[in-house]
Amino acid sequence: MALIVQKYGGTSVGSVERIQAVAQRVFRTVKAGNSLVVVVSAMGKTTDGLVKLANEITSNPSRREMDMLLSTGEQVSIALLSMALHRLGQPAISLTGAQVGIVTEAEHTRARILRIETDRLNRHLQKGEVVVVAGFQGISATDDLEITTLGRGGSDTSAVALAAALQADFCEIYTDVPGILTTDPRLVPDAQLMTEITSDEMLELASLGAKVLHPRAVEIARNYGIPLVVRSSWTDDPGTWVISPPPKPRPLEGLELVRPVDAVEFDTDQAKVSLLRVPDRPGVAARLFGEIASQDLDVDLIIQSIHEGNSNDIAFTVTKDSLNKAEAVANAIIPALCKPLLGESIPALDAAEVMVEQQIAKVTISGAGMIGRPGVAAQMFSTLADAGINIQMISTSEVKVSCVIAQEDCDRAIAVLCEAFEVTSSPVSEGTGYRATELDIAPSASAVSSAPAALHPPVRGVALDLKQARLAIRQVPDRPGMAAKIFKLLADQNISVDMIIQSQRCRVVNGMTTRDIACTVAQMDGELARLALEKAASELGYGEVLVDAAIAKVSIVGSGMVGQPGVAARMFTALAEQHINIQMIATSEIKISCLVAEDDGVRALQAIHAAFGLSGSQKIQVPA
Ligand code: ASP
Ligand code: MG
Repeated sequence: MALIVQKYGGTSVGSVERIQAVAQRVFRTVKAGNSLVVVVSAMGKTTDGLVKLANEITSNPSRREMDMLLSTGEQVSIALLSMALHRLGQPAISLTGAQVGIVTEAEHTRARILRIETDRLNRHLQKGEVVVVAGFQGISATDDLEITTLGRGGSDTSAVALAAALQADFCEIYTDVPGILTTDPRLVPDAQLMTEITSDEMLELASLGAKVLHPRAVEIARNYGIPLVVRSSWTDDPGTWVISPPPKPRPLEGLELVRPVDAVEFDTDQAKVSLLRVPDRPGVAARLFGEIASQDLDVDLIIQSIHEGNSNDIAFTVTKDSLNKAEAVANAIIPALCKPLLGESIPALDAAEVMVEQQIAKVTISGAGMIGRPGVAAQMFSTLADAGINIQMISTSEVKVSCVIAQEDCDRAIAVLCEAFEVTSSPVSEGTGYRATELDIAPSASAVSSAPAALHPPVRGVALDLKQARLAIRQVPDRPGMAAKIFKLLADQNISVDMIIQSQRCRVVNGMTTRDIACTVAQMDGELARLALEKAASELGYGEVLVDAAIAKVSIVGSGMVGQPGVAARMFTALAEQHINIQMIATSEIKISCLVAEDDGVRALQAIHAAFGLSGSQKIQVPA
């Protein structure tokens, strides 16, 4: 007999008939000998409707009253589902978040769960009752017992948190899609259902998967090792399992990480190769990394920054012992990369140059808590700046920010970052290779990615994000503290930054060395970000600020790409074959993202999806 937490989304309980169908499934699961806690969302689009009502009264409702309002939706569906179960003869009781004892921070509209009191739950379960819990809501730990909500889509988080607190055998998320797909089937009709995905991959795919599974739910599943499955409410198909590495013991108190960062990692066995001023046209990255891969060199970070005029800078890191080979490959390929196209008269070859740097280290902060929380990257940059450490390269992904710094600064960087983000340092593995520091009670962030590559396909899923805008900040003085100030400024405006890239190229302006910094933000924040940055331009000493909303970000994600040369080359080649120009590249261990023109976005997604053999013949139906 298993203890199972099932969660049903809004569509699954969208009508009386559907609630009855859910009751049938719950009833069957109990009859099969299981104990059941069921978490439900509000019916259909109820929550949206409530938000609309509030906005009809005021454009700026109090967050406390919003919680009071939005939490009512779930109270309707739990009562109805309990009644439907009673009609089937199944003992059941509905409980609000407060009645269950889902205790949260007092942050209205985005509270995190601190702990769940399980006494009452267990009492009902022991009596053979199904406990039907209102998702998305909790009660504050303060004396005033305020009703809180966890943020839109938060019922997933309620369900997985309950599974963790009750030490349930697994948690099932029932929804209106058959599981997690390799990409968006509305854009790529031959997208396929995944049978499984690791929680780390799922987090990096947040922009693809967030609608199916709340990232905070994935984070809890990873931290507590809760097996999680996403399945269709309409069928008995198995769905997609989200698998996590075995967790390290971790207290249930402070259940949701209130900290945004749960690991500080570093790697001193890296060296950097930069190609400066190579032509800005399709195929350049593909040829370069194709050649690197054919020499069997494994590349870690890759960044390509924004460019002025018609040239780009591309930089990448390799292990120190492959630096010479990588440098030779880069030098040998420059003439081919720079060959003028027919009718072109750029003096590309003269301008291009290869630079290498051996004494570098990569420091990374990681944690799902940074998703949607402005200011985490800024805090990393300012922490490094306060220690007088200059940042040479920056590359970001959904759940990581990596900085390349001088190797001699590495120990100091780790110490100050661990302190700033309250992470305890504990090396995972000794030796020349990869070492990491992390919170001792957190599961090893590298456990999944260091598993044999054969276990994981190199690429699990491909995502397209058309909702971002690119900001370019020109001629930023190259001294500690600049990135910190710039991203603090954006964080103060509550603007979340996604990709951040600092260019390799230095330019001397009025006797001062400068670099360009580019980043992406949500399209709706683009203008606000530009204005905020422009206002500070003369004070901070940088040049022009440009915003471009006509961009698309395509990303591939897969734990199997670690230690497998050639994955980046395959992605870039797929784009080159479509004559799609890459504007920016940023990578993390298990993710590679490229910015392309917005008009090329869908074609880019389709080409990359096909290039990694993710297409299949099964037609997946999803609601519009
Ligand atoms: N009803 C809430 C929402 O629509 C929570 C959820 O469904 O997960 O955001
Ligand atoms: Mg949802």
